Amino acid sequence: MTDITIFLGPPGAGKGTQAEKISEKFNIPHISTGVMLREHVENETELGLVAKEILNKGNLVSDELVTSMLIERLENDDCEKGAILDGFPRTITQAESLNIEGLNIKTVILFEVNETELIKRMVERGREDDTEESIKVRLDVYRDETLPLIKFYDDKDVLKTVDAFGDIDEIFNHISGLIKT
Ligand code: AMP
Repeated sequence: MTDITIFLGPPGAGKGTQAEKISEKFNIPHISTGVMLREHVENETELGLVAKEILNKGNLVSDELVTSMLIERLENDDCEKGAILDGFPRTITQAESLNIEGLNIKTVILFEVNETELIKRMVERGREDDTEESIKVRLDVYRDETLPLIKFYDDKDVLKTVDAFGDIDEIFNHISGLIKT
């Protein structure tokens, strides 16, 4: 059985940073669909060519494409015991696609950060898709498409909320505690 931990939260909330640290501590793979998609873009694969413009604008790549990429990744041997998902699911359709035999959605960590801080962090990060227009689109997309997942997972009693504004190590300790239980 693969125990899945999901990091849920708006862009710029620090999910990637924390997932990296948690992955190291608990020795479970960190799977970021954003990182995977950016690799496809860089390598100019078929998927990358489709995804490039979408990523730059801050929109979502189609559920079908992201889900098949993710499921394929989860079939790797290193995910036998568990995985941390960072940036997936982002829609209810994606969340429902995780309802497959062998996967157990164990914990969903919701990262809470106010919008002013998010924008500041993304501007500072300066990734190629961190333009003013794309940041605005990504925050709108988060509100419209991803926020419904909070209720979706709360109804399943797996949602845990973390105040993700503040010291990286404190946030890390908080998340570590939530994952252990
Ligand atoms: P991230 O690194 O998680 O901020 O993702 C960067 C970009 O990749 C997003 O703005 C989307 O364009 C795309 N992306 C990442 N994960 C997903 C997903 N689960 N569904 C659709 N698009 C995604």
